[in-house]
Amino acid sequence: MATGETLGAFCLTEPAAGSDAAGIQARAVRVGDCYKLNGTKTWVTNGNAAGVLIVFAKTDPSAGGKGISAFLVEPGFSGFRVGRHEDKMGQRSSPSVEILLNDCMVPVENRLGEEGQGLKIALSALDGGRIGIAAQAVGLAQGALEETVKYAKQRKAFGKNIGEFQAIQWMIADMQTEIEAARGLTHYAAWLKDAHPTKTGASASKAKLYASEMVNRVVFKAVQAHGAVGYSRETDVERMYRDARVITIYEGTSEVQRMIIARELLGTPEKQSVATS
Ligand SMILES: Cc1cc2nc3c(=O)[nH]c(=O)nc-3n(C[C@H](O)[C@H](O)[C@H](O)COP(=O)(O)OP(=O)(O)OC[C@H]3O[C@@H](n4cnc5c(N)ncnc54)[C@H](O)[C@@H]3O)c2cc1C
Repeated sequence: MATGETLGAFCLTEPAAGSDAAGIQARAVRVGDCYKLNGTKTWVTNGNAAGVLIVFAKTDPSAGGKGISAFLVEPGFSGFRVGRHEDKMGQRSSPSVEILLNDCMVPVENRLGEEGQGLKIALSALDGGRIGIAAQAVGLAQGALEETVKYAKQRKAFGKNIGEFQAIQWMIADMQTEIEAARGLTHYAAWLKDAHPTKTGASASKAKLYASEMVNRVVFKAVQAHGAVGYSRETDVERMYRDARVITIYEGTSEVQRMIIARELLGTPEKQSVATS
């Protein structure tokens, strides 16, 4: 995977469980030296192109989130099938597919970690992934800003370049400032992950929350500053507008990030009741 010879895929989300990851229903039953997996995973990025997929399934449904285990599944395993391809608003060059597991036989040695460690593995993976998603948002916003500056320097209205109008200048100033703020949060979360991997706290969530909402504000202004052509498929900002919309949703929605950040400050409800009692 490091060389890019093989792509990976991450299979947590299901038709009835997204933010509520502990609510997944995929099942893994031990059968001799294999696990038999059954279930449906949805919205799996690169699920149709991956050489190895991490699949989360319950080995002990009675234990809720603590009953989830992780498995390395290969597309060649019996009972594995790629289902529907999502037809998305944006990011259309990135496939999002359904994975169908029907008595999919997975060797025991393909279990990742111990039984019951699946949710911990998933959440630690997401904690890293969120920094990558924040960086994606910063890059997309940077592209939208550069397109807007280029356009503002050459598009004329009322005999002037629109970049001479204060309203456009203020849009561009806000875009630049917000991008730099998001870049700072993202770099800090990345530095923490490298330097103090056990002390990252909610830094990844803060970076993902701010950067993902920032890029949607930035692409809105980019399309606005382009006028009608900003709404045409001939311009990049139109694609950027569509690509940005999902970034507040995947890898944990903005609402989930806010829950994580608040929990770091307030403690879990149990801790709060202890604190208040
Ligand atoms: C393009 C794309 C690629 C994706 N790639 C992957 C992938 O590779 N692997 C994978 O496993 N998943 C993937 N996903 C799925 C993604 O992670 C989920 O869509 C996301 O976690 C949200 O889950 P959901 O869609 O079921 O929304 P829901 O969980 O149903 O949430 C719906 C709304 O309710 C809000 N909400 C839910 N619970 C609460 C709460 N307790 N408090 C307040 N608000 C709440 C949410 O924030 C959201 O606004 C992808 C999704 C997309 C769109």
